[in-house]
Amino acid sequence: MAVSLCFCNATVSPQHHQVRVNLKDKIGLQNVKNLVQTVGIPSITSSPQECLQNGNWVKLICGASFEDVVDIRNLSLVYTLAGVDCIDCAADASVVSAVNEGIEAAREIEPLRRPWVMISVNDDEDLHFRKAEFDPENCPLDCSKPCEIVCPANAISLDGQLIRTQLSYGTNTPGEFKGGVLTERCYGCGRCFPVCPYDKIRVVTYIRDATATAELIKRDDVDALEIHTSGRQTSSFKELWDGLGDSIGHLRLVAVSLPDIGEKTISSMKTIYSVMEPQLCCSNLWQLDGRPMSGDIGRGATKESIAFALHLASMEERPDGFLQLAGGTNAHTADGLRKVGLFKTKAFTRNSGNEKHSVHDLIGGVAYGGYARKIVGRILSSMQSQHGIANIEEHPEYLLQALKEALALVGTVKGYNLC
Ligand code: SF4
Ligand code: SF4
Repeated sequence: MAVSLCFCNATVSPQHHQVRVNLKDKIGLQNVKNLVQTVGIPSITSSPQECLQNGNWVKLICGASFEDVVDIRNLSLVYTLAGVDCIDCAADASVVSAVNEGIEAAREIEPLRRPWVMISVNDDEDLHFRKAEFDPENCPLDCSKPCEIVCPANAISLDGQLIRTQLSYGTNTPGEFKGGVLTERCYGCGRCFPVCPYDKIRVVTYIRDATATAELIKRDDVDALEIHTSGRQTSSFKELWDGLGDSIGHLRLVAVSLPDIGEKTISSMKTIYSVMEPQLCCSNLWQLDGRPMSGDIGRGATKESIAFALHLASMEERPDGFLQLAGGTNAHTADGLRKVGLFKTKAFTRNSGNEKHSVHDLIGGVAYGGYARKIVGRILSSMQSQHGIANIEEHPEYLLQALKEALALVGTVKGYNLC
């Protein structure tokens, strides 16, 4: 182990050697605790519900299709320490367990309150519920592999294999690619599809099963549900909602994630709300999905979710429920909201001069997906290449780096003092 070698000394017994390594880790974890305490994570004192009301709710989106349980556990640990209010993940039992394990590991380091665990499902075909797929043996060996380069999740891994043929006097001849898409890491962003010069990549879509989802909700470790819908037809939403049955009663929050469909958005939200209302015995939230899965691309990606928020904030007749941004959100989102007068405010003035008031903040908060995973993911990758698959708290120097990144992002909404 690389860490052990740093302490290698002929005069030090193996026992001393171990003690010194543990001491180093203890100091590293103490640095992590000190950072959390210095920043003063408000989630120690305020519940996720209160954060929604106060406009400083932050959700980590692990990804509706991202199922790499090692990364998900470590991401959950880091962002719990950074004070998020909710962690949204795939509606899969092992993924939910990984999120809860990460949360509990974080709370062993510093006893913050537990963020809510949310699972995401879809009522019909949806960008968030798809995977890329191709047969690497069909790829020409001279392909420069742009799919592998463009994938933000390191979900494509290809090795060209040379085949030594007996019949050609021991010479090496071209063989075929091995590897392909790592299904558990693919979250369906679609960036590999257009770059393949040979059109080899297929899209596999799926819909989460309502019965399995209901069983998962009834476990004690799921707090919230998010339903992704296109908002264009509500029959499939109703079918899914009915299929969830009495599991709805186990939830603290139901979120509906939908895109801006212009003038029809409000009427669609009203219809969806009328479907939910009879069984709804908890809070509800509208996730404004601006530009799905694009927050890591650049500053401008957040514009669509802010425009969506502006659109809804100005509408008088929208149904009950918190509003939360997603889709293209990144480190510039909170500033963007501030510039249009929507950050942590109960009142909003339209161009007409009319002021709209809300009993709680107009925008409950922000959810971060691709961007949040990217800034911490590169540290996880670096740790993995140095130490192999590991729990991040076993390498506190990486945990400290990852936490600083997470705090800088979460702090844009929570207002942390990171000086
Ligand atoms: S869809 Fe996105 S995450 Fe999946 S393999 Fe392609 S580029 Fe990677
Ligand atoms: S870009 Fe297309 S052909 Fe090239 S390695 Fe990727 S999937 Fe295969």
